[in-house]
Amino acid sequence: MTNETRHVVVVGGGICGLAVAHRLSRSGTRVTLLEASDQLGGLGTFFPTGDRWVERFYHCVMPTDDALLSLLDELGLRDDVRWRSTSMGMVVDGTHYRFNSALDLLRFKPLRLRDRVRFGVVSVLLRRLGKGKDLDNLRTEDWLRKLYGDVIWTQLFAPMFGSKFGAAFGDVPALYLWQRLGRESNVATRGYPAGGYKSVIDALQGSIEGAGGVVRTSSPVVGLRSGPTRSSVTLAGGEVLEADQVVSTVPLPLLRGVADADLADRLPVLSLSYQGVVTALFFLRRPLSGNYWAPVLRSGTEFDGVIEMSALAGTEVYGGRHLVYVMRYTDRASELYGEEAEVIASRWTGELLELYRGVGVTAADVDEVRVFKAPFVEPVYPLGFRESRPGVEVGGTSVLLATTAHVYPDVTSWNSSVGLAESVAGKVLAAGVGVGVSA
Ligand SMILES: Cc1cc2nc3c(=O)[nH]c(=O)nc-3n(C[C@H](O)[C@H](O)[C@H](O)COP(=O)(O)OP(=O)(O)OC[C@H]3O[C@@H](n4cnc5c(N)ncnc54)[C@H](O)[C@@H]3O)c2cc1C
Repeated sequence: MTNETRHVVVVGGGICGLAVAHRLSRSGTRVTLLEASDQLGGLGTFFPTGDRWVERFYHCVMPTDDALLSLLDELGLRDDVRWRSTSMGMVVDGTHYRFNSALDLLRFKPLRLRDRVRFGVVSVLLRRLGKGKDLDNLRTEDWLRKLYGDVIWTQLFAPMFGSKFGAAFGDVPALYLWQRLGRESNVATRGYPAGGYKSVIDALQGSIEGAGGVVRTSSPVVGLRSGPTRSSVTLAGGEVLEADQVVSTVPLPLLRGVADADLADRLPVLSLSYQGVVTALFFLRRPLSGNYWAPVLRSGTEFDGVIEMSALAGTEVYGGRHLVYVMRYTDRASELYGEEAEVIASRWTGELLELYRGVGVTAADVDEVRVFKAPFVEPVYPLGFRESRPGVEVGGTSVLLATTAHVYPDVTSWNSSVGLAESVAGKVLAAGVGVGVSA
């Protein structure tokens, strides 16, 4: 059997699954992609408002996103990315600060002058200071406390990391932060595709289908059985698809829920928890501060960050309105996550108005509010995860894994998912060549 005659089923229609299916179908492999929801795009998915589609969760492209940019190139979309220089703010104890330059730092009152200087010097050197160190086995808290001191850790980093990773924030490997700094490279330039993220998803779907692949939405996989050379995939409704290979892009706890007992036994045992997220999205009639991103610390809000998307994407794409996201990363079992969207929308609207009262924002400026949640967003990596991270192959089966847990130590992003997709698709194709030779 060759790649042309083999059938590969890809589970999950987020960017990773789409990129795998794109690469395989374009290489002549017969592919079926199955997505549970009625939309493709996963965490990068969108909703209609007016005559536009808008991302449920804020997304941007970084200039260092090489894997994603080369995929966009292939799809003819690279030149559609609009790059802009963006700025950052910081809200501490209800006061708004700019946080971009050495001068901003010198004016940053929440820290004493000597801590401001220390913050600036260490931040400039941080990437270099991490080189050659075993950061995968070093707790973020231990590393940052040592370099920045207790005050900066307690007043700045602990609330910022705590908001992203929950109670285990200090334990996350310092390597995560080091990689993140590398991705962002202290650059303020960010990109946004002119047609929104939907244009990328549509182009991938078009590419897969154009090469003869099948893309099915509203097709949740409810059962998966797998031997060394064959797998069978059961869909809700009872339909069964036979496959020579399966690539699963869904978070491991979800995969475990649909795997039969034999496959479940073979899946990697991970003590990996995931943070979910709650975001509220505000269409406003006026801008806030014009900063793309502002962490919000100790300011009486439940959300802990504000993203002013129109500072990057402009207002034309939102029908002349300004788009602002606020977010809180949280466990999917938390009280907040379980709350009704309308209740969160109303409470967070009040908090946002209070936060920006000083710049004259009022209820009359709020045109529309939407709340979205996602249960599996950020894997909370344990120490030493580079070594203990599961491989993409599941021994004794024809299943390959391509999940957000596998992108570590890269930051979870469209770029890292595309990079992973390329490498897993490469393994599928190489296996096909092997099968073809021995058949
Ligand atoms: C608030 C927020 C902000 C972000 N900001 C950025 C950013 O600025 N830039 C950036 O690059 N990235 C950003 N990301 C991260 C990025 O969205 C993710 O890393 C990426 O989308 C992960 O893609 P994926 O395909 O691996 O997983 P997912 O997008 O989670 O896709 C998995 C898919 O599997 C489907 N599925 C689940 N179970 C089944 C089943 N049983 N059967 C069939 N299908 C199933 C799901 O419905 C989903 O569509 C952000 C994420 C969030 C939440």
